[in-house]
Amino acid sequence: MKRKIKPEVEKGLKICFKIANILKENYPNEIFALKENSIVPFTSSKRLCNSVSFSGYAHFHHIKPHRVCCKQKFLIGGDNWHSEYEFGRQKRGSGYYVIGILGYVLLMTHELAHHRTKGHGTKWYSKCNKFQDFMINQLISGKYYS
Ligand SMILES: [Zn+2]
Ligand SMILES: [Zn+2]
Repeated sequence: MKRKIKPEVEKGLKICFKIANILKENYPNEIFALKENSIVPFTSSKRLCNSVSFSGYAHFHHIKPHRVCCKQKFLIGGDNWHSEYEFGRQKRGSGYYVIGILGYVLLMTHELAHHRTKGHGTKWYSKCNKFQDFMINQLISGKYYS
């Protein structure tokens, strides 16, 4: 049976997939193989995710099949609280609220950088920054929209 997804959630999912596909194209070895259920809305259904709940807006499944689960409140509009990281943890006072395309980009690059890079240490940080810079450049140059 096909999942029933609200149109506004579906719209957000499409944006997440677009970002993931652009990154996959440019960093083929650093992004996991993307499939239909690689990015999913978090629901109470246990089929795609065993978590009962989680804090934040999304999480990455380190165990195969790799997957990014996103809270529906994020998928609708890209709203999320973004923080800078330093020494493996959130940098105090660096947080800000992001919405729209930048919200999607900042959260997806964060989660996708977790592939083979657990935690928020220096390896993850440099990969995440690389993805973010690349995606923000795609937005500024207009390539994202072409
Ligand atoms: Zn999950
Ligand atoms: Zn993280």
